[in-house]
Order: sequence, then C-alpha cells, then structure tokens
Amino acid sequence: MSARGGYIGRFAPSPTGPLHAGSLVAALASWLDARAHGGQWLVRIEDVDTPRCVPGADPIILEQLAACGLHPDGPVVYQSQRGQLYQAALDTLIAKGLAYPCACTRQDIALALAASGQTRQRHGELVYPGTCRHGLKGRPARAWRFLADSSPPIHWTDRRLGDQVQNVGHEVGDFILKRADGLWAYQLAVVVDDAAQGITHVVRGEDLADNTARQILLQGALGHARPQYLHTPLLLAADGEKLSKQNGARPLDVSHPVATLDLAGKTLGLPGSPGITTVSDWLTHATQQWPRLTAKTGEEK
Ligand code: GLU
Repeated sequence: MSARGGYIGRFAPSPTGPLHAGSLVAALASWLDARAHGGQWLVRIEDVDTPRCVPGADPIILEQLAACGLHPDGPVVYQSQRGQLYQAALDTLIAKGLAYPCACTRQDIALALAASGQTRQRHGELVYPGTCRHGLKGRPARAWRFLADSSPPIHWTDRRLGDQVQNVGHEVGDFILKRADGLWAYQLAVVVDDAAQGITHVVRGEDLADNTARQILLQGALGHARPQYLHTPLLLAADGEKLSKQNGARPLDVSHPVATLDLAGKTLGLPGSPGITTVSDWLTHATQQWPRLTAKTGEEK
C-alpha cells in the first residue's frame, strides 16, 4: 500500500469487548494524526490472543468508530488470519540465530531465579533467566523466545514523551514470540503487521510505551523500517488507574457522538468545541487543532 502524504497510521484494538471511553482516545488520536498529516488511517483487529477475545466484539468496535466518524481508509485486517506471516518472521529470526525454543514452565523460571538468588520481576512478570538459551537439554519445546540478551540499549524518541531508552536484554529479558499454548505473541504480530501494512506512524496509549523498545529490536532483526511513535495520555478511572473493563469502564455510548468525542478530545488536551453540533464539524475542527498539540517534541529524529 502506498503512503498517501508519506503517512500510514493505524488503530489496532484487541476485540476483548466493545470500545470504552479510554480506547476511543487512542482511536481518535491516531485518526487525527493521520488526517493532520494528510495520510491514511487503517484499522487492524488484534485478535491473536483468542482466549481474551469476545466473539462479536469486532463489528461492534467498527460500528462505534463509524458512529464517531472514524472510517478506515482500507480493508480491516484481522491478525487471526495472518499466522503464516508470523511463522515466516519467526523462521527468519530462527535462521538468524535470534530466536530459540524454550521448555520452561512458569514454575521452572521461578525455581531457576530462586536458585540463582535473583528475584527479577517486572510488571509482575518474572524476567526470564535464559535457561534454554543454550539448548533444551532433552526437554520438549513449549514456546519460542527472542534472544535479546546481548542486544545494545534501544534509544527512541517519542513525539510526546521525548527521549527514551531501554536495555531490553537486561530489563525485560528474552521475550516470548510464540506462546506455549501455540498463540502468537503481541510483540511479534504487531511488528510484522506494522511492517506489512507500511505503517509509518504509531499513535497509541501511553500504557503501551514500554513495549516500544522490544518492537524496535524486532524491527531491526527483521530488517523493517522503524515507524515514528506517539504515546497519548490515558483516560483514568476514578481509582487513578487506566480506564479498563476491570475497573468498571462501560461500553462507549455513541448515542451522542459529539459529547463522546469531546471527552476523548479533552483527554488529549484538545480545547473544547462549543457550538459544534455535528461529528464531521467536530473532526474538522480537531484536525486543525491537532498539529499545535503535537508540535512540542516535533517529529522523531
Ligand atoms: N492491540 C493492542 C491493544 O488493544 C494495541 C496494540 C498497539 O497499538 O500497538 O492494547
């Protein structure tokens, strides 16, 4: 797909339920950024984690987006139909010696960490100690991991958060590419699809910023271009946490779409739009305001 205005953006919801007010923020920001750049905006349904997906959520998400005037500029892509692409990427990484099979259960990982006197935890996840890096020692393979151990620190510049750095090997460890249950990991699928769809700009919620270094590492390993990144503010729930179904986010009510857009716009720092009564006027006005909001850090180096 050719990039209109040199820009292709996307919104990539996981269909774990209908959109809520928080997920609309990412959708709206990615749409506005694409429009303000004169670019294209795509929607990709990230339904690889099938146990978490809710059947029938994807058409509801697309209807909610449409009610807010957010229409994709190309066919909607479903990750569940793209396993061959992910397998090809894994094969490439294996051929380059950058992916290896892993036989460890969670308990194996906990025991290995305890035995070495380490309690390496990150966001409640154990940092993999590298047990299978040098072979399975006769144990059956369960999952596939990316060899991040000796990779250099990843530097990137977020258009809102500024300069970022993460040593993936040390801070995250050798991360999963294909899970023990046979499902593709988000990190691999998102990198393969962003490249396959020619995504030049990723605009998504700040809760995902921490994944970016892993994705940049994978892009480098697979020979893909690095998109520019902008991580947006999050709409917080009453408990100060990111709004999610777990803390009571209700499905987005699109019966008054201008009010719905106003709330998402407010989270993004857009000035209100008094007197605007139609979705299309609201979006036109917000698109004009958008460059001023994102001019702070400018384009990534
Ligand atoms: N599917 C992810 C989510 O809904 C978003 C992935 C992304 O934008 O990179 O949280």
